[in-house]
Amino acid sequence: MFVIDCPWCGARPQSEFSAHGEAHIRRPADPEAASDAEWASYLFERENPKGPVLERWRHDHGCRRWFNIARDTATDAIFASYPADAPPPELPAHAGAPPPAPAPPLGQEPAADITDSRREEP
Ligand SMILES: [Zn+2]
Repeated sequence: MFVIDCPWCGARPQSEFSAHGEAHIRRPADPEAASDAEWASYLFERENPKGPVLERWRHDHGCRRWFNIARDTATDAIFASYPADAPPPELPAHAGAPPPAPAPPLGQEPAADITDSRREEP
């Protein structure tokens, strides 16, 4: 559990809040002209990165207001909380542990040596 700083109520335990995914999702500018693919992207496609993100939260057991936070999904460190209609803060490049090395393409062995040190040589 971590503590979230509600812009109106101050620091409260996470259990008072509910998370609602990525913040600043833009609705299609012309809904009548949007294709099915554009609607599917708007409704379902999210980034879901490991590291700093902007998220929508609601203070369910408090003021019941919506707001956004800037949080590192790897460490749960919160950099900022701000009203939903405020401009987003600038995110750090990566505030947690260094990002993992990219995975090798499917069907290829990883580049790093991953021999099991517990195994004895014959
Ligand atoms: Zn609140």
